[in-house]
Amino acid sequence: MSAKPSITAWGLYERLMPAEIERIFAAHPTAYLPWGALEYHGKHAAIGLDGLKAHGLCMELAKVSGGLVLPPIYVAANTIKTAPGLEHKRHSLNFSEELLRELARQHFEQLADEKFQVVFTLCGHVGQPHYDIIKDEAQKFNAGQSTTHIIATSETDLISKDIVIVNHAALGEISFLMHTDPDCVDLSRLPADRVPTLEDDAVWGPDPRESSATKGAEYTQAFVASAQKLISETLTRLNSSE
Ligand SMILES: [Zn+2]
Repeated sequence: MSAKPSITAWGLYERLMPAEIERIFAAHPTAYLPWGALEYHGKHAAIGLDGLKAHGLCMELAKVSGGLVLPPIYVAANTIKTAPGLEHKRHSLNFSEELLRELARQHFEQLADEKFQVVFTLCGHVGQPHYDIIKDEAQKFNAGQSTTHIIATSETDLISKDIVIVNHAALGEISFLMHTDPDCVDLSRLPADRVPTLEDDAVWGPDPRESSATKGAEYTQAFVASAQKLISETLTRLNSSE
């Protein structure tokens, strides 16, 4: 990690009064927008996993990169509820792609209106086309102006595939959650005598029974290093092209 000042100014946007927001903003005009879902993640994990994970990761990132972390958005399209061939119909709130698109666009507009230079949008839910819609709105917004740059990404897109791969309620996501929100996971609710499956357990990816908070902390460290670099390169580019 690069040599940053030991105390980086950051905060939770909704909990701050204007003077504190302005103090942090003056040092770090970066907003973090964690984007989650309320989606069934098996019997072993909280349904808010995607937003809890994204919010927890944004907070850890803000501690080193500085800036203001917005509360997570829990509006998602293309949840497991709508996946063909699967019977996981309960415990997911599924919203339309039109609403998602509109919410993304208006958040980007409003955060640009607040003069943030970088809006780091972290998609905890990467169901498709949900994820592509948010990336598409970011791209369109960036093409239309040059004072605010929207980054739209996901934790697994910033981390080497050797460390963690895209998954649902499996080793990667569950380890992240054990690190950020340990009270939202219960590994004892996974089957003891067989490998969990997508059909029976809503698990897609490596066996979540191997998850741990230690692994989650390692994944988080890899995420923070990569995301920090991306944000600082983006700020440098914006400020040199003025
Ligand atoms: Zn998830």
